[in-house]
Amino acid sequence: MYNATIHFPPPANEPVKAYLEGSPERLALEAELERQSRTVIDIPIIIGGREIRTGQLGKVVCPHDHGHLLATFHKVSGKEVRMAVDAALEARKVWAETPWTVRAAIILKMAELLATKYRPILNAACMLGQSKNIYQAEIDSACETIDFFRYNVHYASKIYGMQPKDGAGNLNHTDFRPLEGFVLAVTPFNFTSIASNLCMTPVLMGNVVLWKPSTTATLSNYYLMKLYEEAGLPPGVINFLPGSGALIAEVATASKYFAGIHFTGSTGTFNNLWRLAGDHLGHYISYPRLVGETGGKDFIFVHPSADVKAVATAAFCGAFEYQGQKCSAASRMYVPKSLWPDILGFLKEYAAEARMGDVREASNFINAVIDEASWDNIDRHIRHAEEASDARIVLGGRRDKRVGYFVEPTVIETSNPHFKSMEEEIFGPVLTVYPYDDDKVDETATLCDTTSPYGLTGSVFGRDRIAVEKIAGALRYAAGNFYINDKPTGAVVGLQPFGGARASGTDDKAGGEFNLIRWTIPRVIKETLVPPTGFRYGYME
Ligand code: NAD
Repeated sequence: MYNATIHFPPPANEPVKAYLEGSPERLALEAELERQSRTVIDIPIIIGGREIRTGQLGKVVCPHDHGHLLATFHKVSGKEVRMAVDAALEARKVWAETPWTVRAAIILKMAELLATKYRPILNAACMLGQSKNIYQAEIDSACETIDFFRYNVHYASKIYGMQPKDGAGNLNHTDFRPLEGFVLAVTPFNFTSIASNLCMTPVLMGNVVLWKPSTTATLSNYYLMKLYEEAGLPPGVINFLPGSGALIAEVATASKYFAGIHFTGSTGTFNNLWRLAGDHLGHYISYPRLVGETGGKDFIFVHPSADVKAVATAAFCGAFEYQGQKCSAASRMYVPKSLWPDILGFLKEYAAEARMGDVREASNFINAVIDEASWDNIDRHIRHAEEASDARIVLGGRRDKRVGYFVEPTVIETSNPHFKSMEEEIFGPVLTVYPYDDDKVDETATLCDTTSPYGLTGSVFGRDRIAVEKIAGALRYAAGNFYINDKPTGAVVGLQPFGGARASGTDDKAGGEFNLIRWTIPRVIKETLVPPTGFRYGYME
């Protein structure tokens, strides 16, 4: 097999299962939810394939029922982080030299395991630990994670196939080397697929990883680690390090073998990580690759020609699915005054139908926000709107954290385009709407572009396609993923590679080849077939 040229064509996206009552997938999921609800597991640190227990324990609870303990996990100290650096560098000796098609085969096996045996396990863990309903778990911890595995193998084959031309009498090629050291993957709570992808893109390109999972996603992330092991990932290629992000980052970035950060989370945390890496510049073997996807203040811009029902549906799903905890969630909306009463009417109809509660009750559309700190932050924003003279709550606003961290889908209407919640990321089910005069489309588009520091996602609605194009032009730098007549969430791997610029990150587009290329240091090799044997230029003869 070593003299074969293997191509990995673009895969199909993993189909989203329906989970109708009584279907095989629904029965399997319910059995797994029951199993995980009944047990409290003990999650170790995993370094070089060895389970380590420090006895410094953290807890994983159900956000929708925070008295329900799902797991305890062991936290690392500086000693374990240093052990992980050594284990990763040891594993690198083999992994970086392993044929990339073998690395690809292991990752494709992960996709198959997740599509079958691990599907109910990961979905149940994501539902219970991160409070996602069935659909939200299925599109994340099953389908998107599988798509990342399969598409990245295809993109890697494209990258490795990008070779220079041969010259006259010489052969040229590029060797896409892995980074010289290890990558620190620091992952967020809100997408199991992102946690997986931040580790697996460097790994596919031959790198080794220290993985700091998000505390509130430790349960699903641990099962991911078990899946990687079962698929045949060698010990030490990924080292699983629950614990304090600040501590792990401090120790990891102090190593001269620190070769990069793969991060998704808030802008503030990424800024801290960048500063830490900057503090040690000159100490590293190479300039570290700093890849981060961060916060957003994602918008819907409505032109007076828009279809009001389409806008309301996009606003409701875009702002409130997974309780607004998607980096791409709609959180501010600019609406012509003439359309706002009708749009609000539809939003109220939807809200009256959408039930809120435990993930195990399938009729619930809304579940809980991730933890108490998040609930408190959302509560502060809603309270600020309740007390403000230039804003009012026109939908929802009730919240309760006694049993679970619940917040109703909430809409704030404001006459101030710079109202606090028009500018700051809240990361909860809160949409702020600024109704504008119908004849002020251009001025309002400028306002939308300049109001927040972020540039992640945004959408424009309108039936007048010429007017829509003009608005899209005015908002060219306002979003890295831009939608026309669609909600700003729901990017699909391979179809809409994802990421934004400005304060939203380095825009290296997860789910596309641009991301993978960051995890290589290419070496170009020229081989001259008949070397010259004298120094004189032709005209000197
Ligand atoms: P977060 O920044 O609080 O945490 C992200 C990760 O960083 C976690 O693992 C956390 O434990 C760790 N961390 C926290 N403080 C740290 C520190 N001082 N040093 C090192 N690590 C630290 O973010 P979150 O609450 O998990 O996720 C929500 C944020 O993620 C939102 O801002 C959202 O917009 C963003 N997000 C962005 C994208 C994107 O593609 N742009 C995708 C998902 C989430």
